[in-house]
Amino acid sequence: MAERITGHTELIGLMAYPIRHSSSPAMHNEAFATLGLEYAYLAFEVDNDTLEDAVKGLRALKMVGSNVSMPNKTVVGQYLDELSPAAQMCGAVNTIVNDHGKLIGHITDGVGYMQSLKDNNIDVIGKKMTIAGAGGAAKAIEVQAALDGVKEISIFNIKDKFWPAAEKTVETIRSNTDCIVNLYDLDDKEKLREELADSYLFAQATGVGMKPLEGLSVVPDKSFFRPELIVTDTIYSPRETALLKMAKEAGCKTMNGLGMMLFQGDAAFYLWTGQHMPIEHMKEVLDIKYE
Ligand code: NAD
Repeated sequence: MAERITGHTELIGLMAYPIRHSSSPAMHNEAFATLGLEYAYLAFEVDNDTLEDAVKGLRALKMVGSNVSMPNKTVVGQYLDELSPAAQMCGAVNTIVNDHGKLIGHITDGVGYMQSLKDNNIDVIGKKMTIAGAGGAAKAIEVQAALDGVKEISIFNIKDKFWPAAEKTVETIRSNTDCIVNLYDLDDKEKLREELADSYLFAQATGVGMKPLEGLSVVPDKSFFRPELIVTDTIYSPRETALLKMAKEAGCKTMNGLGMMLFQGDAAFYLWTGQHMPIEHMKEVLDIKYE
């Protein structure tokens, strides 16, 4: 990597805390090196207290842009000049683009999820999906699915602190798109069974299934699934959650969150460089194999 860096190399950041565990720097730098692009991607430990200064620094250093992750995604918008429609609807930003001094905030998580479906020959457009979750990942998927033309979305969440956010997402989708969207209590398992029965796809987008909730599933048992249902999970560690294992046993096509991770990165990469990542190479590096 040192051999790649010259006086022309431009900087792209990642502002989050904690962040040292992130696989984004390795992923982006691998893609730059493979394509011979003169950029470097570095992770910076930035929290809400240092975020405003970090964004000022990005401007002053004329950085190409940055990714933004927790705890800054819902806070950074106020320091930027413009937000994409999806970022406005989600109230969150994961990518900053420095467009000749104008800082534009985007959210690429939802685009990444939708692109991972397409890449796996799953076509949910014009169809009904059911999704569990109301946090950052779920909201981004729900908004992008509605913007892309999914016909109907049934959202399930427990009545925790995320419930009001789910109600707001429903309102935002209804007032900005033609998508039919409804919100239900995830504890109402009979309603979940009913909504899954005529859904093309089920998306799991809560933290249930990864540490500290590893081994647990938002769907109680495999009688909720039928072989035609496609079941996806945003989680990629573990690669196969209890939910995906159960869905596979029921004969469903399944997909974990690695594709979403790759394609949210690719969408940001494209915004910064005007080029896509070398996707097939990246899939090999990240060991992404569809079932
Ligand atoms: P978040 O903290 O914003 O939201 C957490 C969600 O989990 C909420 O909907 C909450 O109600 C729900 N939840 C928490 N505990 C629960 C329980 N016991 N029972 C039922 N629901 C419960 O988190 P997030 O950023 O939206 O992340 C959610 C998941 O998506 C995580 O597992 C994360 O790893 C994954 N994720 C994946 C990608 C990717 O690129 N593949 C990107 C972002 C997040």
